[in-house]
Amino acid sequence: MLILKGGTVLTYLNNGKFYCEKTDVLIKDTKIKKIGKNLQKEFKDAIIENVEDKYIIPGFVQSHIHLCQVLFKGSADDMELMDWLEKRIWPLEAMHTAESISISAKMGIAELMSGGTTTVVDMGTIRHTEYIAEELVNSGIRAFFGKTMMDRKGLPDFLKEDTQKSIEDSLDLYNKYHGKGDGRIKYAFAPRFAVSCTDELLKQVSDICKDKGLLFHTHASENKKEIELVKELTGMKNIEYFEKKEIAGENLLLAHCVWVDDEEREILKKYNIKVIHCPSANMKLASGIAPIPKYLKDKITVGLGADGAPCNNNLSMFKEMKLAALIQKPFHGPTCMNAGEAFKMATLGGAKVVGMENEIGSIEEGKKADIVILDLEKINSSPYFDPVSSIVYSAAFSNVDKVFIDGKVVYNNGKHLTINTEHLVKDANVILRDFMVKL
Ligand SMILES: [Zn+2]
Repeated sequence: MLILKGGTVLTYLNNGKFYCEKTDVLIKDTKIKKIGKNLQKEFKDAIIENVEDKYIIPGFVQSHIHLCQVLFKGSADDMELMDWLEKRIWPLEAMHTAESISISAKMGIAELMSGGTTTVVDMGTIRHTEYIAEELVNSGIRAFFGKTMMDRKGLPDFLKEDTQKSIEDSLDLYNKYHGKGDGRIKYAFAPRFAVSCTDELLKQVSDICKDKGLLFHTHASENKKEIELVKELTGMKNIEYFEKKEIAGENLLLAHCVWVDDEEREILKKYNIKVIHCPSANMKLASGIAPIPKYLKDKITVGLGADGAPCNNNLSMFKEMKLAALIQKPFHGPTCMNAGEAFKMATLGGAKVVGMENEIGSIEEGKKADIVILDLEKINSSPYFDPVSSIVYSAAFSNVDKVFIDGKVVYNNGKHLTINTEHLVKDANVILRDFMVKL
């Protein structure tokens, strides 16, 4: 047992209320056992860790990322989505070997942890996704992962899959990894997007997910050219297509949803489809600005994600929170999307996206001990009067002191305790430069 003593717990609670109190937190095994003052009197055997002047916040939930793309950071700048995919990302993903994808995943997880992220929803690539799964298991992070699926005609040969083989490969990964890492790792099917998948694949995947109670994670309505392609291929609007094919459901996670009209927004609402907002990626690929205030007004669940490293180029929830707040203001005024809304999306919003709001996303008794200790008493984040403002608008990785996942410390004072980062940077640079020469 461990008592985090004297810190300030800052969290949104499941009942929607904001809680910010100086108090102690008792961690027992994987969970938050008790929150209250002077806990050492009641729990005499507990180890005491003094976190006075620090903030105890829930770990961030990055609801949409691509660990396989971390290796390609900075190698696909200033491009629009379809060019970005066809000219850079798809050929680079196709070059991945077991070694390169392991390094990519390891670097990504290390970056995420040092920025206070404790849960991810990852979309892998066509081949070698098992190596991402291994890194997820070994690192101690909480994750939903799935290999990407692409079976539609017209795709480059090196990526196009046979429909049944793609489903079989996904089921193999599900059988091997779902529930691994003491239940931290869960499989989530990941067809890339409607443009790259056949009706047959999407329908079968949807049926499997509903049958097994799994998440269906895909991209939708990110870019104008993409929605034109969906219209050409299906004769329908993207979200409308998901409804007509009976794919719409509360287990459907849609990254982006930038270009969604009122009719489609009704579909999101009706089926309790989850939206993942990726503001950095949407800006960098010039895709547009998602109508998040409308989604929130409609009580549609929204989480935040950094998306792929080459369209960001970081995996920082601090940056996503800040951008999520800022990009709405020129259109809707300064009070739109305040710091609290952004923080809530990064924590409880993400937990709701993955259906784990009763287990993660806030600091509450009985929840899993996925906790970040933040030190805001630093030049970049001080002075502050409102800690939420400091976290969303000023904080950075340097404010993250310690990260717990399932009650275990994975990152402490600049050091990763579960990932060997010694040669990572050097190895990643050698491999990326080799890939870029071959591109
Ligand atoms: Zn993505």
